[in-house]
Amino acid sequence: MLFDIKQHEKSIFSLISQVAEELDYPVFVIGGYVRDRLLARPSKDIDIVCVGDGITLARKVAKSLSPEPKVAIYKRFGTAMFNHRGMEVEFVGARRESYRFESRNPTVDDGTLEDDQNRRDLTINALAVSLNEYNFGEIVDPFNGLEDLESKILRTPLEPGQTFSDDPLRMMRAIRFATQLNFTIEPSTFQAIKRHKNRIKIISQERITIELEKILASDQPSIGFKLLFDSELLEIIFPEMHALYGVEVKRGLGHKDNFFHTLKVIDNICKNTDDIWLRWAALFHDIAKPPTKRFDPKIGWTFHGHEALGAKMVPRIFRRLRLPMDAKMKYVQKLVRLHLRPISLTKENITDSAIRRLLFETGDDIDDLMILCEADITSKNPKKVKRYLSNYELVREKLKEVEAKDSLRNWEPPISGELIMETFDITPSREVGIIKNAIREAILDGEIPNEYQDAFDFMLVKGEELGLTRIAASK
Ligand code: ATP
Repeated sequence: MLFDIKQHEKSIFSLISQVAEELDYPVFVIGGYVRDRLLARPSKDIDIVCVGDGITLARKVAKSLSPEPKVAIYKRFGTAMFNHRGMEVEFVGARRESYRFESRNPTVDDGTLEDDQNRRDLTINALAVSLNEYNFGEIVDPFNGLEDLESKILRTPLEPGQTFSDDPLRMMRAIRFATQLNFTIEPSTFQAIKRHKNRIKIISQERITIELEKILASDQPSIGFKLLFDSELLEIIFPEMHALYGVEVKRGLGHKDNFFHTLKVIDNICKNTDDIWLRWAALFHDIAKPPTKRFDPKIGWTFHGHEALGAKMVPRIFRRLRLPMDAKMKYVQKLVRLHLRPISLTKENITDSAIRRLLFETGDDIDDLMILCEADITSKNPKKVKRYLSNYELVREKLKEVEAKDSLRNWEPPISGELIMETFDITPSREVGIIKNAIREAILDGEIPNEYQDAFDFMLVKGEELGLTRIAASK
């Protein structure tokens, strides 16, 4: 079968073909680029494999281009790369790999195209397009990758057990591709993942997390997390998430399965945001339900404090997963800690003061918190869903109202500690804290407006109560 070479590919592919012919190198486009083009997905980098020296080929092709692109050379890997019209074109010599048990990094020898295709992880990733003059554009498909693309099947080119045991990262990749492409992992391939799950332990956490994040960034992450669960990989790589699974029943009372609930929340939130951190917050929101679960004979199952404990668990898990320990972590932590607040608001009278407190604590993240809360509605009862949504609508309206009045979103206290010290001529002390705190509380409770003059007058009253005297010049 011929690959439909597009106009914009023609010149670069023909040039590579000519140069390789001069060098007497068989040459092919291979891997993800071919797969994505056949699937009509946005295709990124072009991988070129030649039976010869990839670096020599890259240099020679670059010389024939005008302007001549700068070639980046990675001697250790025998690869070279340049940018061409916004695409990265990477060149490598075909290789044969042999593995040792303790490492995913193989010993590499020069090989043929067939050797190179054999070492690929999935049949759909082993497709090659010939750039050789005698069969230019022909698809080289020794493992029926085209058929698998058509029937949306993922399988390994060689025996799956060997493929996964050699490089266990391929198990994560297979599950990630199943999620991104909505493909099915062929049963014996899937069984091999299950059999070799423990081999994942030789893979670095960074690489595992990259795959987890790609799953989370896809349209329907639940596909991947379900496969991770079924393959028993999840228990190894993310035990806290695995622990969400299951329903316990006591005295005829059960609770919802928090694993499937979490998956639904993640899928829900993906319809409303591409922000990966908000997606992580959805994944983490109920993470402390298993350790806080109790059975109360009067009211049934409770998960009291799961939001607070969940927030505490976030940094520990972030560190282990090698996720950044910076503002992003704090953001996820904050959303986990506050995710019940809008619900509890709707259960009481929505007072201005409660709204002010929420705005004060969330700052600019209030909109994201509301998106999370709405995604958290997973009831199958449409009446309930409607009721919850309209409750949140009410909260949103109230938020707008209070925000317009008080602009508390990024609240800075109108009176600083320095001003308090200056006014009463005191040094840093307990009193400064008491006054600052009292001003904040008075604003949040609506006793005084969020204005400088009101806060200043209030400070004078509080100072007097504490036996402080204002020095004359201050204002
Ligand atoms: P994406 O860019 O979405 O990660 P990709 O398939 O293009 O997908 P790359 O990591 O760029 O991923 O890999 C390019 C090609 O190299 C793949 O299509 C596959 O043929 C091969 N490959 C990558 N990683 C592995 C691996 N661990 N084992 C075997 N083959 C691999």
